[in-house]
Amino acid sequence: MSRIMRIWLMRLALLVCAFSAQAQEAGFSGLARLDPARSAITDAGGGIEVTLALSQGVPWRVFTLDDPARLVLDFREVDWQGAGAGDLIDGQRALGLRLGQIRPGWSRMVVDLAGPHVLEGAGLRVDPQSGMALLQLRLGEPHPQTFAAQAGAPDVPGWDLPAAAPQRVAPPADDGALRVVLDPGHGGIDPGAEVDGTQEKDLMLRFARELSEVLLRAGGFEVVLTRDADEFVSLERRVALAHRAGADVFVSLHADALSGARAWGASVYTLSDSASDAASAALAERHNRADILAGVDLSGKDDVVADVLMDLARMETQPRADHLARVLLDTFRAADLPLLSRPQRHAGFSVLKAPDIPSVLIELGFLSSPRDLKNLRDPTWRARVAETLRDALGAWRDADAARAGLVRQ
Ligand SMILES: [Zn+2]
Repeated sequence: MSRIMRIWLMRLALLVCAFSAQAQEAGFSGLARLDPARSAITDAGGGIEVTLALSQGVPWRVFTLDDPARLVLDFREVDWQGAGAGDLIDGQRALGLRLGQIRPGWSRMVVDLAGPHVLEGAGLRVDPQSGMALLQLRLGEPHPQTFAAQAGAPDVPGWDLPAAAPQRVAPPADDGALRVVLDPGHGGIDPGAEVDGTQEKDLMLRFARELSEVLLRAGGFEVVLTRDADEFVSLERRVALAHRAGADVFVSLHADALSGARAWGASVYTLSDSASDAASAALAERHNRADILAGVDLSGKDDVVADVLMDLARMETQPRADHLARVLLDTFRAADLPLLSRPQRHAGFSVLKAPDIPSVLIELGFLSSPRDLKNLRDPTWRARVAETLRDALGAWRDADAARAGLVRQ
């Protein structure tokens, strides 16, 4: 990646931070529309200029491919509205283009180029008032060797075929059911909290199974457990499993102990804003990046691109997760279940770091509190909690769908 490109992308990263609050207020969703009338791919000054007007900012990336020379733009997610080459291409350097979906949630534009070009700059600007986004990029003419060296390999072999969803990502539920990934905390060599012979890992597995039953009986839910046995599962693997399952929502279940504290009652955690940036960087560094954005292969991509993608995905996800936390707590309150003081909390739990799945961590209570311990051991109390969670997830699903519908009008 050229230096100019890096600089542009860094500017983009800053810009993303600047408009994120605005976009959250505006109800950022993943679906954008292309405005062909304001978009163009034109020859300019010995190169190509690409301008794409989108109804809103979306995560995106750009790369070039060699032999034959192509420019590839991925978006999450753009409605192409039947736009075609004739609408956009004006000049001799771009020969044609193809538009489509490469996998659920991701749209691709492929521009066939008359010869090798390199990216000289790219940026997405979002108008803070209207929320409209303008993607502009410029391609110049390089030495062929330079182009070949900079061109990135396609992440999907046979990319120009209508690609099936990667096998490891389950397709969305046909009937619009909410796919809930339940994550019983701890397991195997990691018992979690232990008080008077009760271990958090056992209790959470039991509760996850009970909650799964309650959700499945209710209908409208699909349930996947990150573990269904007393086994150790790493935090990253829990998140990866949620991606693989195509989770709509991720719920981690805990009941920890606080020594010397009198804390009791339930609380709900979402990822804190302050932890998010460092978290995404560390996560990107440490792990197989293919898992981070549900099937979008970021491996080998520039770090800045990956960060921008994760920031943008999180912009969309984090308000939904915070909303879920509020709905959960309201429903707990209405059901007269005990809550911790200031029960809505934020922290940098690794297990909440999927940038594209609304994720919450529920502390159902504290094993260190005799009152909570008694409750947690009581099947009748647990059934009440499971029913409350079912109601809360249902209420959130409906509100979330209504909100998405509003945004797409
Ligand atoms: Zn725990």
